Amino acid sequence: MPSPRTRCSKRGRGVRGNDDMSTAIRYTITPARPETHLYRVTCAVEDPEPSGQRFALPAWIPGSYMIREFARHIVSIRAASRGKPIPLAKLDKHTWRAAPASGPLVVTCEVYAWDFSVRGAHLDATHAFFNGACVFLRVFGWEDGPCELEILRPSGARYRNWRVATSMPRKNARPYGFGTYVAADYDELIDHPVEMGEFARATFRARGVPHDIVITGRHRADMTRLCRDLKRVCEHHIRFFGRLAPMRRYVFLATAVGEGYGGLEHRASTALLCSRDDLPREGERQVSEHYRTFLGLASHEYFHTWNVKRIKPAAFSPYGLDRESYTTLLWAFEGITSYYDDLALVRCGLIGRKEYLELLGRSITTYLRTPGRAKQNVAESSFDAWIKYYRQDENSPNSGVSYYVKGSLVALCLDLLIRDKTRGRKSLDDMMRALWLRHGRAGVGVDEDGIERLAEEATGLKLRRHLDDWLRSTRELPLQALLATHGVRMELRPAESSADKGGKAASSKVLAPRVALGVRTRGEGKDLSVTHVLDGGAAQEAGLAAGDLLVALEGLRPGQGGLDAVLAKRSPGESVVVHAFRRDELMSVKVRLKRAGADTCALSESAVGARRRPLERWLGKRR
Ligand SMILES: [Zn+2]
Repeated sequence: MPSPRTRCSKRGRGVRGNDDMSTAIRYTITPARPETHLYRVTCAVEDPEPSGQRFALPAWIPGSYMIREFARHIVSIRAASRGKPIPLAKLDKHTWRAAPASGPLVVTCEVYAWDFSVRGAHLDATHAFFNGACVFLRVFGWEDGPCELEILRPSGARYRNWRVATSMPRKNARPYGFGTYVAADYDELIDHPVEMGEFARATFRARGVPHDIVITGRHRADMTRLCRDLKRVCEHHIRFFGRLAPMRRYVFLATAVGEGYGGLEHRASTALLCSRDDLPREGERQVSEHYRTFLGLASHEYFHTWNVKRIKPAAFSPYGLDRESYTTLLWAFEGITSYYDDLALVRCGLIGRKEYLELLGRSITTYLRTPGRAKQNVAESSFDAWIKYYRQDENSPNSGVSYYVKGSLVALCLDLLIRDKTRGRKSLDDMMRALWLRHGRAGVGVDEDGIERLAEEATGLKLRRHLDDWLRSTRELPLQALLATHGVRMELRPAESSADKGGKAASSKVLAPRVALGVRTRGEGKDLSVTHVLDGGAAQEAGLAAGDLLVALEGLRPGQGGLDAVLAKRSPGESVVVHAFRRDELMSVKVRLKRAGADTCALSESAVGARRRPLERWLGKRR
């Protein structure tokens, strides 16, 4: 960091000065030649550090905990002052220092953008999308000062109808137009992703705040219905945390593709990637399973507007973007958010209790099918997100647990325990509101033990022993007992087929296989490729490995559903002969089948009459 003298003098002028003087840092971005996938980005510093101004690009983007080294996409960079070139020295993989310059300094880069994800930057002749972390250099010493961004239209008739969608506040740009936008500091600059192109757009208000839904990509979504349903979700979340929304405007930036799923949260917007089939069609009345997926995703990212964008771990206050920022709290920021995303859908009446319990049953099934939950606790999973959760490999299910899945189940247990112990007077909702007031609204980071302390404070209960068990041990969660206190029966059974995701009771028509091979597979033509070999399973004991291509089971090619068909007729202890290629060598393996585990969860309402009260307090009354 540069000297305090430099920071104070510049920041003072930056905040108070007149229009021309008001911003010492100005950026421009141009999707200059979209067909080359290169953005041209400039960063102008009015009064650079006399000893040599330093610049850096972030190594990661908040919300996605992996080192991505965005600087690798910079294909050229140069500096100039008053038209004269200024030498740039590269200090490390993402930091540069300009030679001392007496006047304004302008750094110009070309940034390659071909990452079609919510975390990156993408550019072609059909649209442009970027996250600021991928394209805007941080100017050392100026991080806390205001900056301007001019977004320029690519030249050519082809781009005549392009518009701009972003939650970044406008300066002289017209609504959805090219022109100048402003940010209070660098952190804000990179927290408003931008989409350019010919997108579909609709607007609604939620508790007085304007919300946009912008969709890029071919689709036939019923925009009116989307607005109506998202409004319910947004109003629910705003009410949940208080009377007023913390943002003045909000933008859902969605990209519809054939098959895709993902989202990244921001302070006043979210970037979503969804399957076009997940969007509601004209004339469709019900909330289909597909549409439920989209609503759950939108609800998740919107809840983050409070939980992680404003209620933040101390480790992210401020973000250190040049290296990993470790916290054991991702279970709370992602897990609690995952708990409330679907819960909001049932509480605001978009789905019924039966559908909600089905979704919850699926989460429990995913958890029970992860042998790694006995190896890694959820605090460790949070801390190691950088090297484990975000870098999944063939051993991941055996070695770790997801802080999303287990975190959401810890949130469920905590909620049900608080409700049960206080006879419904308190709940996890109270803890979340306390977090909002103490940390989110006040802008104070949450210490590593802050969630646990506040859980006790907000409810008056002794919860440490339970939380210690759920967060820092690998003992099983008391799901069945806690669900029973709220009139929900939890039943476990073996999977009926490899497509059985759980959540539903056993079908009387299907004869469930009694045995399991202990693998996860992916179809590869008429063969099956082993993606994971699960710990303690029959396949592992027989020596099968990830990457093996199963070409025959009992002498027959497996094909689609072939594995299920073979297993359906077998008993525990029987053997099957498997032919598989490992590398280019054919091997024959005899697998002694094991009894299928009861790892598939179905939930149902069991309480009747007045005993339904706890359930209704938790999920809302049936509509
Ligand atoms: Zn999330």
